[in-house]
Amino acid sequence: MTVASQQTEKLDIDAIRADFPILHQQVHEKPLVYLDNAASSQKPRQVLDALREVDERYYANVHRGGHQLSNEATSLYEESREAARRFLGARSTKEVIFTYGTTSSINTVAHAWGGANLSAGDEILLTEMEHHSNLVPWQQIAQRTGAKIKALPVTPDGLLDLDQLPNLLSERTKIVAFSAASNVLGTINPVEEIVRQAHGVGALTLVDAAQAAPHKPIDVTEWDADFVALSAHKMVGPSGVGILYGKQALLEAMPPFLGGGSMIDTVTIDSFTPALLPAKFEAGTPPITGAIAFKAAIEYLEQIGLSNILAHEQMLAEHAHQLMADIPGLKILGPDPQQKAGIVSFTVDGVSPSDIGMMIDTAGVAIRAGHHCAMPLHAKFGIASSARASFYVYNTREEVETFVTALRKVLMILG
Ligand code: PLP
Repeated sequence: MTVASQQTEKLDIDAIRADFPILHQQVHEKPLVYLDNAASSQKPRQVLDALREVDERYYANVHRGGHQLSNEATSLYEESREAARRFLGARSTKEVIFTYGTTSSINTVAHAWGGANLSAGDEILLTEMEHHSNLVPWQQIAQRTGAKIKALPVTPDGLLDLDQLPNLLSERTKIVAFSAASNVLGTINPVEEIVRQAHGVGALTLVDAAQAAPHKPIDVTEWDADFVALSAHKMVGPSGVGILYGKQALLEAMPPFLGGGSMIDTVTIDSFTPALLPAKFEAGTPPITGAIAFKAAIEYLEQIGLSNILAHEQMLAEHAHQLMADIPGLKILGPDPQQKAGIVSFTVDGVSPSDIGMMIDTAGVAIRAGHHCAMPLHAKFGIASSARASFYVYNTREEVETFVTALRKVLMILG
């Protein structure tokens, strides 16, 4: 499967880098090489300006005021929702809920939908490559309801073992929750195929798009996914903001998760009626500034083109794979670059990933070391942790070279 087979344009990376002030600094007296994008990406001036502009000019609580400033903030908040709808390919803004990130989106579905629809004997199908965000909420609801968790295995190459999917799906399966792209392996999963098979046994689907939305075109309607979760901070947007997409009929049928202001229509001393969508799932004051500025992030990515971003990242990953190929004892986890987003996780025999991470930092190179919130996946590969370099649209071939040169030096000292 070649993911970046669409026509793509070569990007002007210098011009893109110029938009990101944070990249132009030194750490440990070395130029910063920021390769921790799977954890959080950096923000371009357009997003930083939007954040400042909201707080300086338009800030007030949304959907509450009646006064001029609140009305302006509310309009901008709803414009941002419309931008997210377009980005996702959703049919209606009623299907686009602002949350605090992927974790809060998944918890909303697990607890609200799961609490109302799961019982003993039901099964929740996850995969072995999930982030803890797409494991623990399901474990919590399984404990509460008596539902059982199953997991689709990962192959030694770091792909989902789709041959096993039909054996794991049955009329007992009530939901299949899986990532569109892995935060450790980078693997881009065949979302439509998994959704099709899940629907074939009457199960719903939740797609964790935290690592797909920043890196490739997505379309929830084409996917036919029932729920989709993502975080703005991984896609050049602000932290503390995310989206939960859900099909309208499902969101309408599902009870609200958090209770409080804004999510109600009426309240008496001992009861409430929920508001209509999307307010029903937006209890309390939302992350107003960040949600509004998310629009600037979406527009920034759309202007560059998500297919171009994926092609650029895959080129960088390919370059890294080639440069790392002859390092003794080094193993890259996951598939080849054309089957993944720009994530290169690796281990080196006899060397601790956290030592690599700490020492390479002194060369100005920011990578991540640890279990990356995917302990079961690491356990599957028989390791406790890995080191991870993750690329984004503003990274260059030269930065990949700096990273691998620094890695070789670190390994000479540690090895
Ligand atoms: N799912 C995946 C695949 C992720 O990579 C992450 C973040 O690393 C999350 C979920 C959780 O995202 P957040 O911490 O923004 O809620």
